[in-house]
Amino acid sequence: MKTHNFYAGPSILPEFTKERTAEAVMNFAGTGLSVMEVSHRSKEFVAVMDEARDLVKELLEVPADYEVLFLQGGASTQFYMVPFNLMKTKAAYLNTGTWASKAIKEAKLYGEVIEIASSKDKNFNYIPRGYEVPADVDYFHITTNNTIFGTEILEDLDVPARIVADMSSDIFSRPIDIKKYDVIYAGAQKNLAPSGVTLVIIKKDILGKVDRPIPTMIDYRTHIDKESMFNTPPTVPVFAALMTLRWLKENGGIKEMEKKNIAKAKLLYDELDRNKMFVPNIPNPEDRSRMNVTFVMASGYEEFEKEFLEIAAAHDIVGIKGHRSVGGFRASIYNAMPIESVGVLVEAMKEFEAKH
Ligand code: PMP
Repeated sequence: MKTHNFYAGPSILPEFTKERTAEAVMNFAGTGLSVMEVSHRSKEFVAVMDEARDLVKELLEVPADYEVLFLQGGASTQFYMVPFNLMKTKAAYLNTGTWASKAIKEAKLYGEVIEIASSKDKNFNYIPRGYEVPADVDYFHITTNNTIFGTEILEDLDVPARIVADMSSDIFSRPIDIKKYDVIYAGAQKNLAPSGVTLVIIKKDILGKVDRPIPTMIDYRTHIDKESMFNTPPTVPVFAALMTLRWLKENGGIKEMEKKNIAKAKLLYDELDRNKMFVPNIPNPEDRSRMNVTFVMASGYEEFEKEFLEIAAAHDIVGIKGHRSVGGFRASIYNAMPIESVGVLVEAMKEFEAKH
């Protein structure tokens, strides 16, 4: 039986990643030991960390003045680690949803936060435009993909400030111009690995400019100096991340992934725009996420929500119930999701429509 996994995170990972990781759990790199039970200082594991770092640099074309880190504490730890390390006096934030709001809350502990624009007035169903970012802020924080609401910033913004981006749910889904960013961070549990590791890409020369004392563990310089091995890294998630990075490379890299993601999102949004039973949550097609497609029952059909979930379940579809703050449905169609699974969801939608 094939289950079509539309969960928002933790979420679908490539078969390649799961198979290789399962093998390494039993016998890692010919050591006869599990990847769970070898020292992170062993030459075999150091090689994993080195290759993972190098592959991120290669796939995303990370310039030499940046470093790639594998940290812990989730993207939520980055909400305070970023201002702690970078905020001298003030920073600008774009409020596009729950996660952006949480980042703002933490930043306020360390300085002045200018909320440049917000889409809260419409329950975050659009990406604000036409705002101005002051050039004198320490950084401008954005959440490129809003996992809960289903909006996405699909371009690298042109603003007079340095950008810090939470890319937890769309990292590796499209090429990015790293030079525009001071920090990019992403919890792994969408497009990279199981939860437990957080990817950080950081411009090295921005560090060391704040006066506050920084605890060793949350000082980015510690992790740059110690090559993500200051403390024991989450070895299994890092191993799985390496497998996903190899899979990305073997499948044509990020550009190829973007093409597939565009095709998958088009298939689903076209059906949502056509099918009389559903309405996509995000009205402006330019703001629609390619990773998390949110939709509700069309007006007059609200009572059939449960029926659609049953039809979906009969097609072995799991994880499409919307987040409680939005309601309706959410289909997360990350990199590892094959277009065939999106096709099965579209079939279920058509079958449901035919019944009414
Ligand atoms: N940012 C975004 C965009 C997310 O989707 C999530 C988790 N779903 C987070 C931050 C929080 O990540 P974590 O659970 O790794 O702290």
